[in-house]
Amino acid sequence: VRTIRTVAELRAALAAHRGLRIGLVPTMGAFHDGHLALMRRARADTDVVVVSLFVNPSQFNERADLDRYPHDEARDGALAADLGVDYLFAPAVTEVYPDGFATTVTVDARLTGVLEGAQRGRTHFDAVTTVVSKLFNMVGPDIAYFGQKDAQQALVIRRMVQDLNLAIGIVVVPTVRDHDGLAMSSRNMLLSGTERQRATALHRALRLARHAIDAGERDPNPIKARVYAELTGSGVEPQYFELVEPDTLVPVQRINGEVLAVVAARVGATRLIDNETLSPSDRPSSQEQIECVTRC
Ligand code: AMP
Repeated sequence: VRTIRTVAELRAALAAHRGLRIGLVPTMGAFHDGHLALMRRARADTDVVVVSLFVNPSQFNERADLDRYPHDEARDGALAADLGVDYLFAPAVTEVYPDGFATTVTVDARLTGVLEGAQRGRTHFDAVTTVVSKLFNMVGPDIAYFGQKDAQQALVIRRMVQDLNLAIGIVVVPTVRDHDGLAMSSRNMLLSGTERQRATALHRALRLARHAIDAGERDPNPIKARVYAELTGSGVEPQYFELVEPDTLVPVQRINGEVLAVVAARVGATRLIDNETLSPSDRPSSQEQIECVTRC
């Protein structure tokens, strides 16, 4: 893998590959199996794999979160090399935001002002869409890879690509989890031993919602109440749990089709998110089951 620091050098390197399929995996580094799954997918799909490693300061709403964010570029470089990544693009902040930088790419607040946007502030997704637009223009990928772990981010980027007619395919890779269900995240390494145990509550909360829907519950409110109880009872501080329409992020009034269950919680000083797409199975609802018991 070749590490590249400047846009000029990146363009020069990629000029040699025009005509081949270029895959881009944008990351903030501190690689884990989630990142590696995106890279593997890019390696399988495309001819030239570019992984960007840039901790974008503008998308952090808390200075402490940015300061604590893990870095290990040497380890990241070795992992990328193992996976056959061609280029690791790791620019300095001044390379991405030179003096006088004054442009923002914004997706409508209906998608960016809710959930993560409500918690982290309106500027979070502006920062994401702006830096991702820049990376798209720097690299010129045919396909870019994102994780389902950040479901709202993936949705916002798909919206941006569609709205701006960007000729880039977006592939969303399923969430990679640890053995106990905890979604892989660079922030997991900030957890203490007991926090790491408590963090499994997010996955349990999603599983609880899935079981409730499987058992026939169609009203989001009792599910939300049980999930909040599970989270607080496990010693984590819930920020939100919602069942939303997967394409619009609008909370559902009733569970009729596929819903996206999204959760955010603080575990000590660390903020974690997770999500799962849930759909009512073909099994009869509990009311129908009761009727069946009396009828059958
Ligand atoms: P990050 O470095 O956290 O900004 O993540 C870079 C990319 O990896 C984003 O598209 C994330 O959605 C994706 N990602 C992060 N964690 C996971 C995971 N556990 N499974 C799959 N993709 C992930």
